[in-house]
Amino acid sequence: MLPDKDGPGVGGGQSSSEGEDPSVGLFREYLRLRTVHPDPDYDAALGFLGRMAEELGLPMKKFEVCPGRVVLVITWEGLNPVLKSILLNSHTDVVPVFQEHWKYDAFSAVKDAEGNIFGRGTQDMKCVTIQYIQAVRRLKAEGRRLLRTVHLMFVPDEEVGGQKGMETFVKHPEFNKLNIGFALDEGLANPGEAFTVFYGERNPWWITIHCPGSPGHGSRFVENTAAEKLHQIMNTFLGFREKEKQRLNTSECLTLGDVTTVNLTMLKGGVAYNVIPSEMDITFDLRIPPTVNLQEFERQIKAWCKEAGEDVTYEFAQKHMNQNMTSTEEKDPWWRAFSGACREMNVTLEKEIFPAATDSRFIRAVGIPAVGFSPMNQTPILLHDHNEFLNEQVFLRGIGIYERLIAELASVPPCPGEA
Ligand SMILES: [Zn+2]
Repeated sequence: MLPDKDGPGVGGGQSSSEGEDPSVGLFREYLRLRTVHPDPDYDAALGFLGRMAEELGLPMKKFEVCPGRVVLVITWEGLNPVLKSILLNSHTDVVPVFQEHWKYDAFSAVKDAEGNIFGRGTQDMKCVTIQYIQAVRRLKAEGRRLLRTVHLMFVPDEEVGGQKGMETFVKHPEFNKLNIGFALDEGLANPGEAFTVFYGERNPWWITIHCPGSPGHGSRFVENTAAEKLHQIMNTFLGFREKEKQRLNTSECLTLGDVTTVNLTMLKGGVAYNVIPSEMDITFDLRIPPTVNLQEFERQIKAWCKEAGEDVTYEFAQKHMNQNMTSTEEKDPWWRAFSGACREMNVTLEKEIFPAATDSRFIRAVGIPAVGFSPMNQTPILLHDHNEFLNEQVFLRGIGIYERLIAELASVPPCPGEA
């Protein structure tokens, strides 16, 4: 409800500059909250966001989805609250830092002479949280009332898999009650002029393959050893990795999200220098595009294991089977609103499959279309990296982009079948 000029009430703003845009001040304040794993200060984030709800004059609900893990929802009711709503999702947690590799303290939100703001979460994704809030604040200050309800959702634990956050919450009856029609969630920076938008995600499969074999003395040619089977498995998987890498490198229209990545991440086995082990295990991290036939791919893995030995088995620590992709066709009303608004703002979009995983996968899994979009162009991709930063001008432009996107999405006329 408060207009921008009232200021965000920057607490602890000792390194805020005179005459700084209040949105930048608010962003820097939020960056200083240490919501960092392994022990995120969620209370600090909840306190801050509670204050935001008060400033916006909007109701807020808290859902403790797991002990100590709260999902917070701020709701701006639309003129027709029966219609499907728009979800603006962001996560409050950030990944750890290696402070010795940072130019500045990762939780001081230092802004340099070029206006680059340094801090963990500047890109992933505290920027988006503040941009959503400021965009809604502006729309309200302009006296706008939108047709559809808008929910701002703040979730914990995305950076450790979302099991105690979004994955649990999407199954909660309270999530259902939000009646979401379309969701915005995080994307990635784009170093060029364009902005990247993600309409699907690869499926992470974490697989361990057990290779049993005949044990024996390390001085002999023992037949049927675990290592021979492991050798074959390793060659097959890494051979496939090479083929996918070539495919990515030789085709200009493919991005990382369009190919399967394979990485050997763990090897286990052996007890002594001179004892041939009775089992060796090998673990791979596979990321598979949603366009791949997953059943067929698993049959392929089964066949590779069989070729290495009849007794070679495998198990999954993680195996996502979600092939939902959000429509990016002009006939889709949500996409038409999203892409149309971008066109009018001269925001050029590059459509991609997200190479890693975000909470969007849980949203899509319950049948809700979602796009991953963080409005950062002309910005190197530094999520989870040292010296993560975002320029204040890019950040400020993003507020305007969201202002327009939210207004358009929440004005999509009732679809057939909607009240
Ligand atoms: Zn993130």
